[in-house]
Amino acid sequence: MQINETLIRSVVEQVISQVRSQAAGPGLNLSGTNSANPNRGHSGLFDNVDDAVASARTAFEQLQQRPIEDRKKIIDIIRRISISQCEELGTMEMEETKIGRLEHKIAKLKTLGEKTPGVEFLRTECYSGDRGLAVIEHAPFGVIGAITPVTHSLPTITGNAVSMIAGGNTLVVNPHPSGRKVAAEGVRRFNQAIRAEVGIDNCISLICEPTLETAQQLFKHRKIALICVTGGPAVARAALNSGKRAVVAGPGNPPVVVDETADLDLAARCIIQGASYDNNLLCIAEKEVFVVNSVFDAMMDAMSRAGAVRLNESQVDRLTAAALQVVGEGADKHHAARKELLGQDASKLAEAVGLRVDPSVELLYGETSEDHPFVQTEQMMPFVPFVRCSSFESAVQCAQKAEHGYRHTSIIHSRNVRNMTIMARAMDTTLFVKNGPCMAALGLGGEGYLSFSIAGPTGEGVTTPLTFTRERRCSLIDDLFILGR
Ligand code: NAD
Repeated sequence: MQINETLIRSVVEQVISQVRSQAAGPGLNLSGTNSANPNRGHSGLFDNVDDAVASARTAFEQLQQRPIEDRKKIIDIIRRISISQCEELGTMEMEETKIGRLEHKIAKLKTLGEKTPGVEFLRTECYSGDRGLAVIEHAPFGVIGAITPVTHSLPTITGNAVSMIAGGNTLVVNPHPSGRKVAAEGVRRFNQAIRAEVGIDNCISLICEPTLETAQQLFKHRKIALICVTGGPAVARAALNSGKRAVVAGPGNPPVVVDETADLDLAARCIIQGASYDNNLLCIAEKEVFVVNSVFDAMMDAMSRAGAVRLNESQVDRLTAAALQVVGEGADKHHAARKELLGQDASKLAEAVGLRVDPSVELLYGETSEDHPFVQTEQMMPFVPFVRCSSFESAVQCAQKAEHGYRHTSIIHSRNVRNMTIMARAMDTTLFVKNGPCMAALGLGGEGYLSFSIAGPTGEGVTTPLTFTRERRCSLIDDLFILGR
């Protein structure tokens, strides 16, 4: 009797588990080949670039036959999954990449679902006159190759997919190797739902084992119509030299200027909010602050009042030795963040200098010189150097130097409109924020829409569906439309 009950329970459990796994689709297993692994070769998961591009091309041809309403359905599916599964996927991203902060990994996915621009951006322009009619439409490129960073692996793919598919394209993603698993799981979920609800598979295809070689293959593939890279200096350079049209969302090192008219307590709260978000992984995040001398000490006090912890000179020196290293040769010699501390919590950075701070502390800060490596390096960790400047003009000059001509993001805290204008002109950055945290520029607490690919070097700015379209003009040479004849 005992044996029978055990047997029955075991059979029932097996059946339930089988039914569950069939309902959920095959779970993600990144090992194995196309033939051995049921996940490979569909649902967007591919072992090699040729297969991924061919499948994305088939998906593109199917999408071309569908009305724009179907593109809307697809991006609504991506947004829905991004919102409803943000906790699970955000946790996976945190566990895999081990950088940043869990609450922000989750928030990024949720906000992307809510704030990404869609097909409504594809407004047709029309000219009519004595010689007829010209209609300007926004047509897709085809299959786009996307390279995505480890700092926001799935969020970048999600934002790119929404914009690119809204524009009528499909995409092949070469994710950062250290964020490839969550990238693959997100892509699998998106594709399975799209296939079930719209009947097209592989709209978003992904290389499961990405390398620099597979990125190069994507750059060179003749069926890739356009590339979009989001990453640091090396990949930005590689894309610009690829010989293919590229949308390049490159690195930044956003400076903040605080002048004597600023609301210092507000400035401190904004700097903490922006610089500590996801432990400073955002390319738009406040990375160094230049404060005019007359309010420097008051600004440092305001930072402490707002909850940041100040490091003294010797602690800053110890953190510099622990967190940064010299890399490169000759003219390319520069400082870079050490992996062990990149994107780690403020309390872990403090530990590295022998200081115990409460885990709730979001940001460390300290005074440095203008040429300090923490000022000049895009460090991506929750320590912000503050530099004392003799005047507003000198603060802007320092900000220009620290930004390295990326023209990415800069920020001012001031009530002086003239100073705002002077800095805006001098910096000429893609994003310029006045009296707010950096993320206000992406619609988070400010106006506008969200994308995690901000194309500075190639000039498209915060990418939208229009970024991924070609202009196409249809002319009717006739007097049929001319009224009053
Ligand atoms: P990363 O440059 O190390 O990697 C980005 C991607 O490029 C990865 O997929 C990587 O595998 C690939 N890659 C790197 N070198 C390559 C090469 N030579 N050829 C082909 N592919 C190459 O950057 P990361 O650490 O993943 O992300 C952080 C960087 O990205 C920061 O510099 C940050 O400012 C930048 N970023 C920019 C934006 C933006 O919108 N402008 C957004 C997010 C991140």
